[in-house]
Amino acid sequence: MATQTYKAGCACGAVQLEITGDPAVQAYCHCHSCRSWLSAPIHAAALWPASSVKVVKGADNLSLYKRTEGSHRQFCKSCGAAVLVGHPGFGMTDVPSGSVVDLAYKPTAHLNYGEKVMPVRDGLPKYKDFPKEFGGSGEVLSE
Ligand SMILES: [Zn+2]
Ligand SMILES: [Zn+2]
Repeated sequence: MATQTYKAGCACGAVQLEITGDPAVQAYCHCHSCRSWLSAPIHAAALWPASSVKVVKGADNLSLYKRTEGSHRQFCKSCGAAVLVGHPGFGMTDVPSGSVVDLAYKPTAHLNYGEKVMPVRDGLPKYKDFPKEFGGSGEVLSE
């Protein structure tokens, strides 16, 4: 069976990604850092092992904003679109799911729901920060 590959990239097309395999984690993030970066109430994150995400065009057109050492936010210098977020602490790269062509987005949880500005009633678990296996408290909040 052939491995699924995805294309992603910025709004103007200067930066293009090729991603191998399906995402390891799909989850909504409600944290202030994601919200302010995307100017959106919720970030629909899709995370792959860092080695699965390759910049195939326009690497020199990416700019880097390190809000923290844990998240390296990269965006297109021409159109400003959010392209990817490197998480070196756990070896994963987040590609904002809205930019991934033909990805059938299937989130399994909400992260940082303690910082939410927009409640969501979809029955998925709502972690106050992160599950324990990602270094969080594991605390689950009501919707
Ligand atoms: Zn662009
Ligand atoms: Zn976040």
